[in-house]
Amino acid sequence: MKTIITAALTGAVTSKSKAPALPVTPKEIAEDGIRCWKAGASILHLHMRDENGRGTMDKERFRETVNILRNECDAILNLTSSGELGVSYERRMEHIIELKPEMATFDAGSINAGDGIFDNTIEFLTMLGKCLIENGVKPEVEVMDLGFISAAEHYTKVGVLIPPVHYQFVLGFGFHGAPATPENLCYMKTKLPEGSTWSAFGVGAAHMPILYTTVALGGHVRVGLEDNIWYSKGVLATNVMLVERAGRVIREFGNEVATPAEAREILGLSKK
Ligand code: ZN
Repeated sequence: MKTIITAALTGAVTSKSKAPALPVTPKEIAEDGIRCWKAGASILHLHMRDENGRGTMDKERFRETVNILRNECDAILNLTSSGELGVSYERRMEHIIELKPEMATFDAGSINAGDGIFDNTIEFLTMLGKCLIENGVKPEVEVMDLGFISAAEHYTKVGVLIPPVHYQFVLGFGFHGAPATPENLCYMKTKLPEGSTWSAFGVGAAHMPILYTTVALGGHVRVGLEDNIWYSKGVLATNVMLVERAGRVIREFGNEVATPAEAREILGLSKK
């Protein structure tokens, strides 16, 4: 099979002081994205940072990165709707409405995050789902715990999500998310509706067991400094190192790394 690699380049939390290779400015994020695309990532998952390195939903920053990437590569762009805690619903969607990426995240429930709440109320998810449908953006439904799958089924039933849904298992999200173990992934995967596509990653050290389990179970993979800053014990990673290793794991297993065109086919994205 063809396996899609998503590169999660920056995130909202990873600190530059701990991960020196973290791309932070819009230009750095775009340049790192191009390197990852050349290394085999067909989806680039994007967050932005402000001048102090904090996660921001500033649409002008998204615009700068998106413009560079659209000019220089054919990667599928997947913009976060959750890059800054405690901001208005509008601010979490305005960059999506203006830039119309092919994909955007849809976190199917709320969960504690650090000192705050990663809040995804029914009201917000209903607005977000409708906004994605209206703008032709494919949701990536992020699943931090088992109940998020049944939540997504509810949103499908009420027309907020359109099947087949694409899921992203986010395992090991703090100590409130489902722990990042192969056993949990195996079980949760059985709960996906027929016809779904899915990808997975584990946070931190769990990225390796989840990477291998995902490939073995026929899923797609996500790697990047948003999720994990280490290549191996004591060796700091770059995004490209993580993408290149995912490609090797996929090929050694006997699969092929999906090109952006193949990823579009798999995910049902209309041709650009
Ligand atoms: Zn993200």
